[in-house]
Amino acid sequence: MPIYLDSNATTRVHPEVIDAMMPFLTDHWYNPSSGYGAGQAVKAAIGKAREQVASLIGAKPSEIVFTGCGTESNNMAIKSLAREIGRKHSKVLVSEIEHSAVLRPTEAMAAVGFDVQRIGVDGEGRLDLEAFEKAIDTSCPGFISIMWANNETGVIQPIAEAAALAKKAGWFVHTDAIQAVGKVPVKVDEAPVDFLSISGHKFHAPKGVGVLYVRENSPFEPMIRGGGQEEGRRSGTENVPYIVGLGKAAELMQSELENGGIDRVGMLRDLLETTLCDRLKGVQLNGSREHRTTNVAHVSFEGCVAAEMLPKLDAAGIQCSAGSACMTGKANPSHVQKAMGFSDERAFSSLRLSLSIFSTDGEVLEAAESIIQIVNDVRA
Ligand code: PLP
Repeated sequence: MPIYLDSNATTRVHPEVIDAMMPFLTDHWYNPSSGYGAGQAVKAAIGKAREQVASLIGAKPSEIVFTGCGTESNNMAIKSLAREIGRKHSKVLVSEIEHSAVLRPTEAMAAVGFDVQRIGVDGEGRLDLEAFEKAIDTSCPGFISIMWANNETGVIQPIAEAAALAKKAGWFVHTDAIQAVGKVPVKVDEAPVDFLSISGHKFHAPKGVGVLYVRENSPFEPMIRGGGQEEGRRSGTENVPYIVGLGKAAELMQSELENGGIDRVGMLRDLLETTLCDRLKGVQLNGSREHRTTNVAHVSFEGCVAAEMLPKLDAAGIQCSAGSACMTGKANPSHVQKAMGFSDERAFSSLRLSLSIFSTDGEVLEAAESIIQIVNDVRA
């Protein structure tokens, strides 16, 4: 069995999630908008999933909008906010380390005349709050889109501080929390955000289902109009089995967070890092030690090129990546590591090893042995 260390790319669907979904592919296949009992039972299942997700992030169920994926959630928030602030005399701030699902839509806004500014990060991969504060223009409307945790390094951003500064200026706040939800406690009362994006497949629900949290009374313009599902905020007949699965995954992750399961992942991550650092020279652990999700080790191996290591690791049964899955095969160094001030050499020598609640200490130790051997081989 290969050892999976790429949980920031996607995660295995939890068996209990599959069990929860199955009845909605078999017996309960009705349209939740149908008025008769069987349809209403399906509608009730969506309602339960809404409550499960709301509970995980400390929101009201009415603030949860189900979407087709995290990318859609980000686009929905950004496009709605673009309409709200208008392109003339307004401003948008994003960080340099955002996922392409924020960078591309805001680039498209810049192309049609919006003033979009990217704010840098420090060497630990955290937003430069001073530069951020300076860039806020209190004389015009605006919004920010700053991620809760980075997908490559796992570094948690000062989102509460950034959101508070934006709110002081009367601006709106979106956060891409796709790599944070289910991995660290994320509560919407911790930061004054208007919109927060979630993706199911990052925490053991299937791919192709997400959530946009829309704070009550925050202005919102739907991107997809039609039959008025999701209170008119995202039309289209609901993807019931996947929504039910996402709800179950949210419930399971809440219990992992409350019962120490996520801390155990952190202990495994630490075991992996210390084994690599103890046994190899020229190893650098990247990103803030203090502010990070528990599941990511982002490591540079001096004198190695990740592109050379990855096929060897794959052949040895270790599945991991050099950066985000969307960047696989790209010739340029990761924009995240460049923003952190890394040389091309260091950026090209990094591996992202990301764990999940299914990781075991046996796997971590076996993976560490393989990595050590491959690093020594490549260096030789
Ligand atoms: N934002 C971040 C930070 C991500 O890590 C990802 C997925 O890799 C996305 C957005 C896109 O989410 P999805 O794959 O559900 O479209």
